[in-house]
Amino acid sequence: MNIVLMGLPGAGKGTQADRIVEKYDIPHISTGDMFRAAIKGGTKLGLEAKSFMDKGALVPDEVTIGIVRERLSAADCEEGFLLDGFPRTVPQAEALESLLADLGKRIEHVVNIQVEQDELVKRLTGRRICKVCGTAYHLVFNPPQKDGVCDKDGGELYQREDDNPETVTNRLEVNIKQTQPLLDFYENKGVLKNINGQQDIQKVFADIDALLKGDRG
Ligand code: ADP
Ligand code: ADP
Repeated sequence: MNIVLMGLPGAGKGTQADRIVEKYDIPHISTGDMFRAAIKGGTKLGLEAKSFMDKGALVPDEVTIGIVRERLSAADCEEGFLLDGFPRTVPQAEALESLLADLGKRIEHVVNIQVEQDELVKRLTGRRICKVCGTAYHLVFNPPQKDGVCDKDGGELYQREDDNPETVTNRLEVNIKQTQPLLDFYENKGVLKNINGQQDIQKVFADIDALLKGDRG
C-alpha cells in the first residue's frame, strides 16, 4: 500500500502515521524527521536544511527530492510506504510520480486530514515530542500520563523550535499557499480522499482505516 498523508502542520499527520504504519506494517517516511535527524547528526544535509527550517521556509526541492528518491529505493519500501510531509510542492509531486514510475510503483491513496486554522495554532503551540521515539503529545488534547515524560519509553518530552507562535503562523501561511495546487494535482488523478481531522484521535484513525480498507471513498 503506497500512501501519501497530507494536511497542514498540526493536522495530526504524525499522530495518525504512527497508527497506520503499525497496522499496515509499512515504513513511515517523514521528510521533516529526516531533516531533523540530519541536523542532530551534524551532516552536510543537516547544515543545508537548517537555515531554511529555522525560518519556517521549505527546503529546496532538489535537496528534498534527492533524499526521498534514496529512501524509496530501500528494500523495506517493497511492500508499501507512508509518505508524511512529502510532496509539498507540485514539482515534488511530479518528481515523485516519475521516480515511482522508474520503480514500477504508483501512489494509491492520498489521505488529506482537514483541520481549521485556529485549531492548528492551538495544536502546534501545545505540542510536545518525545526525544527518544518522536511520539507527539499535546499539553491539553493528548497529555502523557506523567508530565514531560513519554508513555512508551520514559523519554523526555521537548518542544520543537519551530512550534512557537511566531514561526507557526508563517509555516501555516507557507503551507496553505503551497497545498492547494497539490490537492488539485491529486484530485485530478482521482486519488485524493479528504478526512475530517477535527474529531478525536481514535475516530480520525477509524475513518482513515475504513478508507484504506476500501469500505468507502
Ligand atoms: P502533524 O504531524 O500533522 O504536524 P501531529 O500529529 O504532530 O501533527 O499533531 C499535532 C498536535 O496535535 C500534537 O500535539 C498532537 O498530540 C495533537 N493532535 C493530533 N491529533 C489530534 C486530534 N485529533 N485532536 C486533538 N489534538 C490532536
Ligand atoms: P510541519 O509540517 O509540522 O511544519 P515537518 O516536520 O513536516 O513539519 O517539517 C519541518 C520542516 O522541514 C519544514 O518547515 C521544512 O522546512 C522542512 N521540510 C519538511 N518536508 C519538506 C518538503 N517536502 N519540502 C521542503 N521542505 C520540507
